[in-house]
Amino acid sequence: MISFLDLKSINQACRRELIEACTRVIDSGWYIGGSELQQFESSYAEYCGTKHCVGVANGLDALVLVIRAWKELGYLNEGDEVLVPSNTYIASILAISENGLVPVLVEPDPATFNMCSVNAEAAITVRTKAILPVHLYGRLADMTAITALAERANLLVLEDSAQSHGASLAGKRAGNWGHASGFSFYPGKNLGALGDAGAVTTNDDLLADTLRALRNYGSHEKYKNLYRGVNSRLDEIQAACLSVKLKYLDDQTSHRRQIADLYTRTINNPAIVLPVALDFNPSNNESHVWHVYTVLCEQRDALQRHLLESGVQTLIHYPIPPHHQQAYAELSANSLPVSEKIHQQILSLPMGPTLSLIDAEAVVRACNSFVATGTK
Ligand SMILES: *Cc1c(COP(=O)(O)O)cnc(C)c1O
Repeated sequence: MISFLDLKSINQACRRELIEACTRVIDSGWYIGGSELQQFESSYAEYCGTKHCVGVANGLDALVLVIRAWKELGYLNEGDEVLVPSNTYIASILAISENGLVPVLVEPDPATFNMCSVNAEAAITVRTKAILPVHLYGRLADMTAITALAERANLLVLEDSAQSHGASLAGKRAGNWGHASGFSFYPGKNLGALGDAGAVTTNDDLLADTLRALRNYGSHEKYKNLYRGVNSRLDEIQAACLSVKLKYLDDQTSHRRQIADLYTRTINNPAIVLPVALDFNPSNNESHVWHVYTVLCEQRDALQRHLLESGVQTLIHYPIPPHHQQAYAELSANSLPVSEKIHQQILSLPMGPTLSLIDAEAVVRACNSFVATGTK
């Protein structure tokens, strides 16, 4: 079976260095908030091109805490509306509602699956105070248009960069476009820890300072609490492992691009719609990091069964749109045909830094041998 993502082989490739990193932490006697965290935060800020990186416990917390910090700083209030893509992973929306703000779902551009700035503009009301574009599947949202819109409408911009470590547009990386950005280092992300981890990147000194307190019980100074904060810290072991893995990220991304390029050049089945390729488009200097390679197929479930029978594991990102989730009954009245079509037709093919070209060719053959029938 060709697995969707072989995490074990990814971590095996730098096993010795990971063990050295863990050993160093074990022997240091310092496990939270030490030099490994500082080292990783400064390397990751440099990687993104931002002034600050603040490590937190996971990607959801990164988003939740930015909005929380903006409330503490008086920039946002409960009841304010936040524009968010209707086809995103649920975490982007949870971060808004967790803070007592109101998610307003915006239909994506059907070609890129990312937030459409025209639809976003149409959804603005007097209560709209922020916009939360998600760089879904490894590709930056149209940040040139979105940041211009945010400036015109006086909106805070929070990027959800959980799927797009290292992706760029106009020479600027994910994490360096908004007023702040949330990253996840969940094991299956392009930069993955050996457990949960996340971070915020920003160029705003005051925000970074507020986040450093919020993640640590609301305290800058031991036993002195400025805010009612939380415990959301990135521990030394995860930080040390992330520093090891960051060194290999760009090489791994190149490998993902090679696989994506092979899929795009050689899958030719009229029943399967490939993603619009803009990899390394020199005109807008855009680079996609292929967190997942998604195709559309009207008979998606039949395609998924056919691939499984051919020894190819696939996943669906995502089977249920947020407005059809039980947790968000109040969003169910939204009519979101683009998002609904994506959720019905999308399928993610195997993709990863250790997927061999031979296996990728087998994926292509399995896709090309799919015969669409009249039934789903
Ligand atoms: C993974 C993910 C998150 C949440 O990250 P966790 O580390 O799992 O909390 C948020 N947004 C998007 C788009 C994601 O893919």
